[in-house]
Amino acid sequence: MDRIIQSPGKYIQGADVLTRLGDYLKPMADRWLVVGDKFVLGFAEATLRNSLEAAALGCEIAPFGGECSQNEIDRLRDIAKRAECSAVLGIGGGKTLDTAKALAHFMGLPVAIAPTIASTDAPCSALSVIYTDAGEFDRYLMLPHNPNLVIVDTKIVAGAPSRLLAAGIGDAMATWFEARACSRSGATTMAGGKCTQAALALAELCYNTLTEEAEKAMLAAEKHVVTPALERIVEANTYLSGVGFESGGLAAAHAIHNGLTAIPDAHHYYHGEKVAFGTLTQLVLENAPQEELETVAALCYAVGLPITLAGLDIEEDIPAKMRIVAEAACAEGETIHNMPDDVTADQVYAALLVADQFGQQCLHNWE
Ligand SMILES: [Zn+2]
Repeated sequence: MDRIIQSPGKYIQGADVLTRLGDYLKPMADRWLVVGDKFVLGFAEATLRNSLEAAALGCEIAPFGGECSQNEIDRLRDIAKRAECSAVLGIGGGKTLDTAKALAHFMGLPVAIAPTIASTDAPCSALSVIYTDAGEFDRYLMLPHNPNLVIVDTKIVAGAPSRLLAAGIGDAMATWFEARACSRSGATTMAGGKCTQAALALAELCYNTLTEEAEKAMLAAEKHVVTPALERIVEANTYLSGVGFESGGLAAAHAIHNGLTAIPDAHHYYHGEKVAFGTLTQLVLENAPQEELETVAALCYAVGLPITLAGLDIEEDIPAKMRIVAEAACAEGETIHNMPDDVTADQVYAALLVADQFGQQCLHNWE
């Protein structure tokens, strides 16, 4: 099988980078449809307009309706057509960005993506998750290309609640372990080929960055200021993890996350918070060294990520619930089957209980 790595065409990150946005967008198109979170437009619209105007770019600003659904995409498509836009900029959180990516794809236009939080590794990827108007999962839309440009203003990211950065750290923490598993098994990644050396190296750099910088970055996020550590974590959460998961591959941690969504208990937790516990469970499943388990658990604990089931508000009927989670994690087509050995629901059930026990023991020692 061929080896493949894919990534956004250009990645730009810095404090106040939005004030320079027009210069970066200018080579791509003259008239932009800006799909923005209403909340974000509330404080960033004037900066956006000024920056685009200074670069002599036209723009039509369309506040995002709130759901990444086909109806919303069609609505924005009409606006873009009427305003004769030749490119799309998405600014805001995950659903806004997914909508901008899907819209640009359906219109055959270039797309720039400006995440305002660093809570997942989705912005850089060639994937949109489409929901119904009521907010239920509809389908994955695999895009032929990654975004042409991803631009992250770290001052805006630092202004968001710190728990969102921690969630991004949880999502990024899985990247190295899942890519490592895929490289051992020779699994096909989301990029449609085997993992390259480059993707594996980015995934490992992602993990090393987290162990070195995450705690320092959280201090900055709590004070809503930009420091070198915060810059490094935003890059790890967004770019290293983004390219790392897409071209390095997903394995047990994300499948266990998906399994956890099969019970209602943890619905109100962020993606990365559930992925963190999924990572701990994957390490138990693959019998990782004790030292690695301890490093991951300590890092989660330090940044406020859950390391027990109770930490995800799963407190009653645990055996029955974990049976459901384990079965769902092992469903056909799940990425858990990218692990080097065959994985059964029984094994996942055991790993879930042991990961929880391990997390409880850590908390007992540390608190
Ligand atoms: Zn993820």
